[in-house]
Amino acid sequence: MAPREPPGPAWRPRGRPLPARIRGRELQRRRARLFAKFPCCVTCAARGQVALATIRDHTIPLAEGGRDDESNEQALCADCSETKTRAESARGVARAFHARRAGRGAGQC
Ligand SMILES: [Zn+2]
Repeated sequence: MAPREPPGPAWRPRGRPLPARIRGRELQRRRARLFAKFPCCVTCAARGQVALATIRDHTIPLAEGGRDDESNEQALCADCSETKTRAESARGVARAFHARRAGRGAGQC
């Protein structure tokens, strides 16, 4: 059995494969189970608001080392998912920038 990969930093070097992602019927089953348990958006609920959850979100994005399992999923509404995704995209751009910069060596731009 291969050793489990440690969580590591929030960035991943370019070209490193992402963990396997759940798809198809298994994904639909997990979504149904999540929304049965958490029908409302957890982010809205934390603000005292109520919104129907429609997105199965990875609390820690797969690109940042999160797992595609129940321990790393949350129910979000479309608006909160979009806001979170924008923030994750910005971090991804920053990771790519720093990875390219690190690849060129210290002191170079
Ligand atoms: Zn929300």
